[in-house]
Amino acid sequence: MISSSTRVLALLGDPVRHSMSPEIQNAAFGEAGVDGVYVALQCGVEDLVGFMRGLARAGGGGNVTLPHKEKAAAVVDAPSDAVRRTGACNTFWGGPDGRVYGDNTDVAGVRRALRAFVGDPAGMRVLLLGAGGAARATLMGLLEERVGEVAILNRSLERARAVARRIGGHRARVVQATLELRGQSFDLVVNATRLGLSPEDPSPLDFEVLDRVGAAMDLIYGARTSSFLRAASDYGVRCTDGADMLVFQGAASFECWWDRPAPLEAMRRALGRVLSR
Ligand code: NAP
Repeated sequence: MISSSTRVLALLGDPVRHSMSPEIQNAAFGEAGVDGVYVALQCGVEDLVGFMRGLARAGGGGNVTLPHKEKAAAVVDAPSDAVRRTGACNTFWGGPDGRVYGDNTDVAGVRRALRAFVGDPAGMRVLLLGAGGAARATLMGLLEERVGEVAILNRSLERARAVARRIGGHRARVVQATLELRGQSFDLVVNATRLGLSPEDPSPLDFEVLDRVGAAMDLIYGARTSSFLRAASDYGVRCTDGADMLVFQGAASFECWWDRPAPLEAMRRALGRVLSR
């Protein structure tokens, strides 16, 4: 029951109408029996600081999504290591000391999803497509999982170089063009580009240029199979979409707010209900 002590957690972004997080989080709150409610608030950049500070000060918090994750990283008073290294914040909450705490749970989300998909990724050779916010979180997650090497391929070369410099260290290398990959083998390919969000999008990778691929993971999720996953399965590669990552990053956010394990199965069921509509 919503009462005067109910904590308000809000998703701040523009747009937010498509988000599945309210259903997933409210199902989790109900299952765990915590006194909270999760809503989605359309929020322009000019209102972000006010919403974040106000919600946190009222004892709540929330998530931040496109296009505000980088701006949110500058708002939080106590950023996690993931926020500092990726320069992005997707989860915030008010602490008892009055400060706004922030984390980037895309990092924990991708790590847990990777482990569920490939087991222990330590030592793997990985090809990462993209250099935006999701790619930065993925690169940090891959390095924390002690993969052997990450090759980064992105439409804008400069953005890929900047990501490799900021997060990658000596284990990341930038690939200038797909042809450079000819004959190479990877244990895992991750699509962290937006290509595939629209049904007309081409695959961001021509698998035929590669010699061998062990597994393919798309961060995109939804009822429809993305062009990347279609290309991967045509090439005979084992694949998964971003649904697990979505649930795991939501679970990590839940754990930031409530300091207890998230009810994963209830969250998965809620996502399944949304996707089947
Ligand atoms: P972003 O910061 O806007 O980055 C977009 C990326 O896609 C950039 O690398 C961009 O390349 C590339 N791109 C865009 N249009 C392209 C095109 N026409 N051709 C080639 N590359 C193109 O977005 P983001 O936040 O990283 O999100 C990326 C994807 O990850 C989205 O589909 C999002 O839904 C998904 N995601 C999933 C989860 C999950 O929990 N499963 C979490 C976060 C994000 P340039 O640098 O050249 O522009």
